[in-house]
Amino acid sequence: HVKKQGRNGYRFFERRMNAEVHLQMQLKQDLRRAIQRHEFVLHYQPKVKAPDGPVSGMEALLRWHHPQHGLLSPDRFLPLAESSGMIIEIGNWVLDQACRQMKVWSELGHEELTVAVNLSTVQLGSSSLVNEVRLALERHALPPSRLVLEITESTAMGDAEESFSVLNRLSALGVSISIDDFGSGYSSLLYLKRLPANELKIDRGFVRELKRGSDDEAIVRAVIALGKTLNMKVVAEGVETREQQALLAELGCHSLQGYLLGRPSAPETLVLGNSGSGESVGALAAPSHTVT
Ligand code: C2E
Ligand code: MG
Ligand code: MG
Ligand code: MG
Repeated sequence: HVKKQGRNGYRFFERRMNAEVHLQMQLKQDLRRAIQRHEFVLHYQPKVKAPDGPVSGMEALLRWHHPQHGLLSPDRFLPLAESSGMIIEIGNWVLDQACRQMKVWSELGHEELTVAVNLSTVQLGSSSLVNEVRLALERHALPPSRLVLEITESTAMGDAEESFSVLNRLSALGVSISIDDFGSGYSSLLYLKRLPANELKIDRGFVRELKRGSDDEAIVRAVIALGKTLNMKVVAEGVETREQQALLAELGCHSLQGYLLGRPSAPETLVLGNSGSGESVGALAAPSHTVT
């Protein structure tokens, strides 16, 4: 049934498919060993009080130093980690590592700083999550108020009743809950009202082309008003320009995050970018635990 002219194209496609399938299988095997081989690292990106500091928190973003493929970002391996269930073990590693780093920063005198960890749907659906969070905090003698858990709208919506229960138990522990990529999913306002969340992160999609008088401005304004009503902090992500920074601050956004304020980087090289005031926000000293 393969047409004559299409044959080469088909063969080519088939070869590419095989290569892709092979790559995925290989990555999956490599993923299993990645923790023991110390191939994961966390990079940290600052959340800065609008408009230009100080730094109020750090978000941990997972990276995989793959021996052949180099530094991989989460898009490349998270789906695989989720479908294989390995995200549970990886997620626990992330929690532990982020708490450890937070402890280092605390000891360096950054006592108001918080650390944010992203959670996947799979983790939120696992009954052990609450206990893992509690254990990670205890292990590093960290007060729960220093930890923020970021969940995306769609993550929280997954299995609504189940995740409500987990989120309520997490909230009862004293950690903060942040709704990531807000506005990109389908959460109803009723649902949002019921969530025990402390922070809304406006999706980068509304920040990218943000201009005075634009629809995006109207949306951002509305989200900030919603945050006020629901008593949540509002953070904008993906801030790349001075114009976005100024407008977001003027609209009443509490915190800003984005390349303009600081790129995600390894903790030992963390120097925060120029925040727009002509001086740098400040560097955080190297942690003592760096895995080699
Ligand atoms: P996210 O939590 O919404 O993180 C923001 C993403 O935008 C990050 O991509 C960050 O590097 C990038 N970013 C930050 N500022 C800017 C900017 O100004 N411009 C642009 N264009 N991009 C910016 P990254 O690190 O590739 O992470 C992608 C997603 O992977 C995250 O989105 C998060 O959902 C997920 N993720 C990252 N680390 C973890 C983790 O440890 N566990 C889980 N479950 N998910 C994670
Ligand atoms: Mg996030
Ligand atoms: Mg986000
Ligand atoms: Mg995202």
